[in-house]
Amino acid sequence: MRYIENPPNPWLTHSVEWLGEPPESKLEVFEETATRSIISTNNSPDVSFDHSVNCYRGCIHGCTYCFSRPTHEYLGYGAGTDFDRKIIAKIHAPALLRKELMKPSWKGDEIVFSFTSDPYIPLEANYKLTRGCLEVCAEFQQPVGIITKSALIRRDLDVLKELARVAHLSVFFTIPFTDREAARAVEPFAPLPDARFHAMADLAAAGIKVGIGIAPVIPGLTTDIPELLKRAKQAGANQAFINMLRLPGSVAPYFEQRLRELLPTKADRILNRIREAREGKMNSSVFGERMKGKGQYWEAIERLFRIHCERLGFNKARPRHDASRNTFRRPSAQASLFN
Ligand code: SF4
Repeated sequence: MRYIENPPNPWLTHSVEWLGEPPESKLEVFEETATRSIISTNNSPDVSFDHSVNCYRGCIHGCTYCFSRPTHEYLGYGAGTDFDRKIIAKIHAPALLRKELMKPSWKGDEIVFSFTSDPYIPLEANYKLTRGCLEVCAEFQQPVGIITKSALIRRDLDVLKELARVAHLSVFFTIPFTDREAARAVEPFAPLPDARFHAMADLAAAGIKVGIGIAPVIPGLTTDIPELLKRAKQAGANQAFINMLRLPGSVAPYFEQRLRELLPTKADRILNRIREAREGKMNSSVFGERMKGKGQYWEAIERLFRIHCERLGFNKARPRHDASRNTFRRPSAQASLFN
């Protein structure tokens, strides 16, 4: 059972304190009917893609380290249990995406599914919003990248195979640990690492390009990079990346609190390691530094990653969508009429 637990929202002038034990946090789903843009564009120099689609706001997987938590604060919610339990479903996402892809200004750059929520949270089993968007992408031969922790993606093998046939498609599973205890502590409601590796193997067997994101690397807790890469290779992955833990704004106190509750004997060592890789701080917001650590400890992690990628043959092929081979096509007016 989880109780409502949110850091103070910096955008609000008030915060809530409970007399006695806070109430249990319950799942609430809100349907967003707004018809504004569904494609988000970022110009961050250290993010490898420019465009993303998120069919949901908030994420039931509840990773304590999730750097997207503060996005919930802009909505007036909290970055703690509110982010995990107050979920917004953008129910018009597939229709909005179709509308945007029809605009002459859209040139067919890669769209990545994920950023502020996992595209395959459990609600997707009913809403099928990610699936609907992928169907639209297949119709437009739109290049796509997917980043997920969920085995639910297997449900969409048929659409994924069609998309991979007509356009670029890559699917990355983020798996920062093999250890179940670590995963349950910091990714409490995400499928366990074994389930992610099995889903990866199923997609690879279906001919889909898969990769592993060892992301985030949590210094002191992510201790099995060679094993993660080995298992990913066995599951058919050929691409891999690592990112350093990011703890912007309210995420740092929330992460620390949950870490002390759930891994009390390891918490101090992990927090010290994070500071060691962040020049004494818990976070860096500087472009170019946010995704990487600094100092000897981080350099050793990067070296280890590089050596084992080389040994196992990761990242030999071109990793991302090749813009010079853009497959994007608008369907004919006649075909559009039927849709
Ligand atoms: S699965 Fe991704 S989006 Fe969801 S809580 Fe975890 S890190 Fe955040």
